[in-house]
Formats: sequence, structure tokens, C-alpha cells
Amino acid sequence: MNIHEYQAKEVLRKYGVATLKGQVAESPEKAVEAAKTIGGNLWVVKAQIHAGGRGKGGGVKIAKNLDEVRDLTSKMIGMTLVTHQTGPEGKVVNKVYIESGCNIKKEYYAAVLLNRQTGRVILMASAEGGVNIEEVAEHHPEKIHTIEIDPAIGLATFQALEVAFKIGMKDKVAKKAASFFMALYKAYIDKDCSAAEINPLVETAEGDVIALDAKMNFDSNALFRHPDIVELRDLTEEDPSEVEASHYDLAFIKLDGNIGCLVNGAGLAMSTMDIIKLQGGAPANFLDVGGGANKEKVTEAFKIILKDPNVKGIFVNIFGGIMKCDIIAEGVIAASKELGLKVPLVVRLEGTNVDLGKKILAESGLNITPADDLTDGAKKIVAAVKGAK
Ligand code: ADP
Ligand code: MG
Repeated sequence: MNIHEYQAKEVLRKYGVATLKGQVAESPEKAVEAAKTIGGNLWVVKAQIHAGGRGKGGGVKIAKNLDEVRDLTSKMIGMTLVTHQTGPEGKVVNKVYIESGCNIKKEYYAAVLLNRQTGRVILMASAEGGVNIEEVAEHHPEKIHTIEIDPAIGLATFQALEVAFKIGMKDKVAKKAASFFMALYKAYIDKDCSAAEINPLVETAEGDVIALDAKMNFDSNALFRHPDIVELRDLTEEDPSEVEASHYDLAFIKLDGNIGCLVNGAGLAMSTMDIIKLQGGAPANFLDVGGGANKEKVTEAFKIILKDPNVKGIFVNIFGGIMKCDIIAEGVIAASKELGLKVPLVVRLEGTNVDLGKKILAESGLNITPADDLTDGAKKIVAAVKGAK
């Protein structure tokens, strides 16, 4: 799960991570109030969306007076911000973060992440921070320094200092950076993060070390023990069909193809997508209804697929074990009755109660193409959507 920059900064402050003063605002008037409360004579208006690259896309602007705070905010709220992380469709800005202007001496990069190969948490930092970190990672990986953290010991002071020295910091600044890294690591562990990224981490003209940007990502499997983090979820930032699927506890991920898939079991879902690709098609989603789904859950799952305008054909591929084929058949019919079935539907059923499932579907009056096996089903659905726009 992702959260906004302003929320991440709130979380991090509690751990002693240094940030500037800032306040979130949802209107130009509120933005001006926020700027007054923050004080000073230089502010930055920052679009709050769940994507980076805002600076380059026009989502980070400097305001030299309160009128500029108002004007920039009114332009930013409601705009569709396109960055290299949002995709071409961009994201609508609903909120801005008003932050003190920073007297930046140098921009660095710092992140606490999980190294999946070693299964250990790592601290990563670079002297080449700011808006071009992707290029640094690609062309100059040697400029990114990494240390692995022993889970039993945690991030040791000497390690944090070593990283600060490696990115060229000295004396007091290096010491401040070391405390910063340790606080960031503590927040990462405590809150079950999957990533905590600070880009840029800045050294100010006054010699402070501050998080000027903050991105935190949380392990969804651990959210049950962090109700405070769950509260920060912003559903407007997520794909509506994925949000709906999450209400029914469905494993659903939207993809950009045109064949909707209803499958049980993650392994079968993966191989169904593979075989659709192999036959020259493209899946519109990954959907695993799971083992113990009831009729309601299957109905909701099928509705989510039916509602997607990109879906030009549907492939139901079920291997009934704990899941019974007749439950799937009933769910498919209930959803189709409610929303109408306007696209080709290919169904491959196998396993528990398969005959009953097939009978229910055959008697439903729906236009269904039966398939004998995975390959046959994939071929039939790919052929059925061919030429569909
Ligand atoms: P993004 O990563 O989405 O582009 P950032 O928060 O990293 O957004 O901001 C982009 C750039 O804008 C930073 O690298 C920094 O140079 C500048 N910036 C961001 N916040 C401030 C601030 N409070 N004061 C001065 N400059 C800022
Ligand atoms: Mg940034």
C-alpha cells in the first residue's frame, strides 16, 4: 500500500526523521492559511499524488508570496499531472502540500529497501540524488552505495556513518545523516514497510540533513497490525476495480489487455495468462477467486470483469477442487443476468461437480463456448476477440 508524501512525512517525523514544516491543503484558501501558519517568505506547492517525477511534470512549484501560493494551488488542484510514473493518462491532483522553501546545498538519495535475493533489508544511498536517480541507477550503478542490515542487530551506528562518508558527507553533516538513516530504518521496521525512499535527501546551507521528499510503501500482508497506516489509504489513488475487488477479498490486478479472466488458484491464473499470451492474446486482468469462494464472491468477481469496458471477451478457467464448478456456474449466470453479457464467453470447467456446472451453464440460455482444456480455451477466446477494438 502506498501513501502520500505529506502522510509519509508525518509518519517519519514521529521517528525523528528531519523534515521541513508543511501542511496539506485541499483548496487555495486553505493553502494560504497553511503558508501563514508555516511562516517564512518562501514556500513550495507540491501536488499530492501516488507517483514520483512530479517536479519534472510541473507538480512542484516555488511561491514567493501568499498570492503565488493561492494561484499555484488553484492551478494545481484539479489538474491531471502526467509524470514518468503515472503513465500517459496521468493522475488528477486533489490535494497539495505546502512546505517551507528549502535552502538546498546538495541533493542526495537514500532508501531503505528489501533485497529479495538475500532476504535482508538494505540501506541504499547516493550522492547523485534528486530528479534523475533512475538514470544514475542505469548508467552509474557504482555511484549507489548499499549496505545489508543484520536483522538481529539492526542498523549499527558505524554502518550508518560509513554510508554517510561514502556519499561524501563530512563531520557534523555525516553524523546528522547517520542519525537520519537510523531513524528511517526504525520507521521502516516498525511499520512493516516494503520501501522507504527519500529523494532528495538534502544537506541545507545551514548544515541540516532533511527529507525533502518521502515515499513509503507498506507490506499489505502486515497491514492488519497497523490500523493507523490503513487509515492513510487514499482510495481515489487506486484503480476502482481493484478497490472493489479488495472489498470481496479477491486477488485482482488490472492489466492492459482485452481478455477478462476468471480463474481459481494463483498458479492457474498465471498459466492462464501465459497461455493467452502464447496464443497471441492479452489478458485484461489477473483474477483469482480463491479456493473457498461462495456464489456471492464469484458473482462480484464476474461483475468486475463485465464492467470493464476494455474487456472484449471472457475466459473462465476453473479447476474445481475445493471450489465447486456449480458455484462458478451460478456466479457467472447471476452476474450476467444483472449486467448482461455482451462479449464472447469461453468456459473451461474441470474437477468437482463439473457435470452439474456444465449443465447449469447449458440451461442458462447464455451464449457460451465450451472448451476442453486450457489450450483449446485460450485459442477459442483469442479467436473470438480478434478484430475487436
Ligand atoms: P518528485 O520526486 O515527485 O519530483 P520532489 O519532492 O522530489 O518531487 O521534488 C522535486 C524537486 O523539487 C526536488 O528535487 C527539489 O529540488 C525541489 N523541492 C522539493 N521540495 C522543496 C522544498 N520544500 N524547497 C525547495 N525545493 C524543493
Ligand atoms: Mg522526489
